[in-house]
Amino acid sequence: MVQDLGNMPVLGVSLAHVSLLRLDQTGGPAPGNKSFKLHHYLAEAKRLAIPRVVSFGGAWSNHLHALAALGHSQGVAAVGIVRKEATEQDSAMLVDARRWGMQIVPVSRQEYRRRNDADYQQQLLERFAPCLCIPEGGATAMGARGCGAIADIIRSRAPRHRQVVLPVGTGTTLAGLAAGLDDSYEVIGISALRGASDLEHRVRDLLCELSPNSHARWRILHQFHCGGFARVDPALREFMLAFEGIHAVQLEPVYTAKMLFAVHQLCARGEWYSAVPTLAIHTGGLQGRRGYAWLS
Ligand SMILES: *Cc1c(COP(=O)(O)O)cnc(C)c1O
Repeated sequence: MVQDLGNMPVLGVSLAHVSLLRLDQTGGPAPGNKSFKLHHYLAEAKRLAIPRVVSFGGAWSNHLHALAALGHSQGVAAVGIVRKEATEQDSAMLVDARRWGMQIVPVSRQEYRRRNDADYQQQLLERFAPCLCIPEGGATAMGARGCGAIADIIRSRAPRHRQVVLPVGTGTTLAGLAAGLDDSYEVIGISALRGASDLEHRVRDLLCELSPNSHARWRILHQFHCGGFARVDPALREFMLAFEGIHAVQLEPVYTAKMLFAVHQLCARGEWYSAVPTLAIHTGGLQGRRGYAWLS
């Protein structure tokens, strides 16, 4: 589950002190971090005997993809409120989700904007009753709590490592992980978004709820988005293809390649030292590769 990158330089930079935590190889039908975030939601639905869960995402949402897969395997019906035109063809991700039985409800951008409004959620609760509503990305304390299990994996599988790096979207995984570790650890998030200025605030709130008195030190780096969410620039593409070729590990451009490209740049500039063993978390998302023509 932990893979050392060994001394095989990528584009002239050694990543010999970096190891990969392969969460993309865990999680069964929903590989990567999403199964951790969804764990308590599905457990809660079953505990309360609620037969259906409803959540939100775009046409390439890893969150909805995982929810569809886990719902299918655990016998919980899933509804996806998807930001897309009704006439637009399904993405490869939505094709999978429908195959797993997810009911796809296309909504306009305008309607999608109301996803966090209490009155809109109440309408959905009535329309799909009885159901449990999961906020977009599972971005709540319940989602973060499930990511505490990643901390347990790190303690048992990578006991030497105290510097942990992972890609960040909503910050939920980072918060849950940091809450599960003590302050001998530093958790560094690489934001996949451009200008996500509320991330620190969200992480702080989640930590306050989960584990205010004991958690890892943490910070988020905002300068490695390569042009914005799901955007790819030529340098990222070159790095990703080089890394995949040398290490025989598949990445995807939205999260994992950006995170490792950030590590690569920090090592190249000498800002990160080879004396500090670094654990980089491969959070999965490989199903999203199908959205990039140059990868298929
Ligand atoms: C969703 C996702 C993330 C981001 O997780 P957050 O908890 O939203 O920060 C990172 N990597 C992959 C592959 C993801 O699908």
